[in-house]
Amino acid sequence: MTGNADVVVVGGGHNGLVAAAYLARAGLTTVVCERRAVTGGAAVSEHPFGPDYTVTSLSYVVSLLPPDLVRDLRLEQHGYRVYPQGPYFAPRADGRYLRLPHDPARRYAEIAKFSAGDADAYPRYEEHLAGIGRVLGPLLHQIPPRLGSRRPQDLLRQARLLTSLRGIDERGAVDVTRLLTGSIADLLEGYFESDAMLGLLSVSGVIGTWAGPRSAGTAYVMLHHHIGETDGAAGAWGFPRGGMGGVSGALARAARMFGAQIRTDAEVAQIRTSGGRVTGVTLASGEAIDAPLVVTTAHPQISFLRLLDPAELPAEFVADIRGWRSRSGTVKINLALDRLPVFSSHPEPDPQVYGGTIVLAESLDDIETAFQQAVAGEPATLPFADICIPSVFDDSLAPAGKHIMSMFTQWVPSGYADAPHEAELEAYADRVLARVEKVAPGFTASVLHRQVIGPHRMQEEYGLVGGNIFHGELSLGQMFHARPAAGYADLRTPVRGLYQAGSATHGGGGVTGIPGRNVVRQILADRRAERWRRRVSRPTRPSKPAAQDLPPHQNHDNVTSWWSEPLLQSHRRGWSRALRVAAWGTRVSGSGRPGLRARPSPWRC
Ligand SMILES: Cc1cc2nc3c(=O)[nH]c(=O)nc-3n(C[C@H](O)[C@H](O)[C@H](O)COP(=O)(O)OP(=O)(O)OC[C@H]3O[C@@H](n4cnc5c(N)ncnc54)[C@H](O)[C@@H]3O)c2cc1C
Repeated sequence: MTGNADVVVVGGGHNGLVAAAYLARAGLTTVVCERRAVTGGAAVSEHPFGPDYTVTSLSYVVSLLPPDLVRDLRLEQHGYRVYPQGPYFAPRADGRYLRLPHDPARRYAEIAKFSAGDADAYPRYEEHLAGIGRVLGPLLHQIPPRLGSRRPQDLLRQARLLTSLRGIDERGAVDVTRLLTGSIADLLEGYFESDAMLGLLSVSGVIGTWAGPRSAGTAYVMLHHHIGETDGAAGAWGFPRGGMGGVSGALARAARMFGAQIRTDAEVAQIRTSGGRVTGVTLASGEAIDAPLVVTTAHPQISFLRLLDPAELPAEFVADIRGWRSRSGTVKINLALDRLPVFSSHPEPDPQVYGGTIVLAESLDDIETAFQQAVAGEPATLPFADICIPSVFDDSLAPAGKHIMSMFTQWVPSGYADAPHEAELEAYADRVLARVEKVAPGFTASVLHRQVIGPHRMQEEYGLVGGNIFHGELSLGQMFHARPAAGYADLRTPVRGLYQAGSATHGGGGVTGIPGRNVVRQILADRRAERWRRRVSRPTRPSKPAAQDLPPHQNHDNVTSWWSEPLLQSHRRGWSRALRVAAWGTRVSGSGRPGLRARPSPWRC
């Protein structure tokens, strides 16, 4: 059976759904093919404990989904709703606890229980992060330029990047450099001294990461978790109603409303190409879908080493993809509870405690030790855990009086991705529960059901190769222009018409939707450029090979926006021709900018 579409999107995770919604909104016939029986990928809600309980299987809180994306896709009309998460609560085995309430005076008092110096330092630390966030935050939304390329349009985009960084002064440049290259331990130890603060704050530097708090690069991982917003509050996180599947469900409804077709149980077995150009996909069922455009959101090692024949791709690109680091030691534990835990350090029922993040991490050294054990091939004896109970806000997750608990924990050895290691994972989960039992006696007896998802299952069932939660480590060598391969951070690939938009591309790593949105910007810009090319190219010049006839990695005709096209023309054909083009555009549009209003722009994202 053969069908056709303007675009096929491989993968119905949240980025695939975002891309599909924007593509369909731009008028392209769009088909999403998702391998699993449900959409959402790592942003999914499922029912492992029966229909009464809804479990946010893997990811559990949102912050990084841009508010303008939520508005563009009218997600609130489609059921998207977020409950702001309460503050951190870190109960300790010695009967004390550390909390970081939002109110500055109360927060000062809480921190001062452990160290007055730490309480004094906290506002300076927050200001430091906010300053760096103001520089790096907007970059997360950009399509990275091809750093190092000397093509005119790439040089222009590099210049624009430098211009966008012009606000940084000497102090800022050093702060950014140190943050990008340093460890979370280096950063925190510059401000704080108490084990309680160092333990609690270092968690967000290692979450989802195959690196301990003393490893270089972990300071940036913390910032990555700090640059989103919830309900207008910078750096804040929230619980989506219905779990993370609530986000994906709203995205799927939006995509369908714009006209996209979403197919589940539709595994793509091959991305087909001919002469260096994509021609469509073939499903595992044998069905073929022809399309001149394909967007893949699967892990890059699935897309480029399995669904394509690596022999069709440039060797350097294949080497980058093979060397892509995607290790993990994350274990997600989901529980159904008969009642809420009672913490001996804070026994009064407190919505701020139950509605916040409960962190089991008593010191930075405990966390480093847990990582070093995993590096040595042993699961941690004292895993850290980032815990929340979304059912305290969301009555759709559990029957009245019962609760769902989500526990994000680390580490087991990264080699656990290669085999199920079920017995070891169960023993590991017992140790996590024992940690909770120590600070909340009676907790273990309240557990009605439990689900333990380790790296192997993340890889085999959810397509997260190596079990890495971000489709690839957020290390300095895998960020921005290097995500996921040299020369291809602009969401294109070496195959013409094939684009990428999973979490292994820039803007990805978390439920951000940014790659899904940016890929549509790139596709529509390339289509506009293609139309320009057709309009201005002279059919009387047969000696020059058409761009589409060149091997893909020698074809430099992809330009990124309407304004760079005249420059590209000038590069190829000389200034006089470019000026004629510009004059033509000016005449048609009546504007001073070539071609600005010559035709309605399909770009409405
Ligand atoms: C345990 C865990 C906790 C996390 N917690 C958070 C959190 O709280 N907040 C946050 O923001 N982020 C969190 N993340 C990260 C976040 O969930 C991911 O980065 C994000 O969901 C990835 O989205 P994606 O669309 O890029 O890829 P995916 O969600 O991985 O989607 C890719 C899709 O492609 C499909 N696919 C693969 N191969 C094929 C094929 N051959 N044919 C068809 N379909 C295919 C897969 O089944 C999958 O559905 C967490 C991740 C994990 C694992």
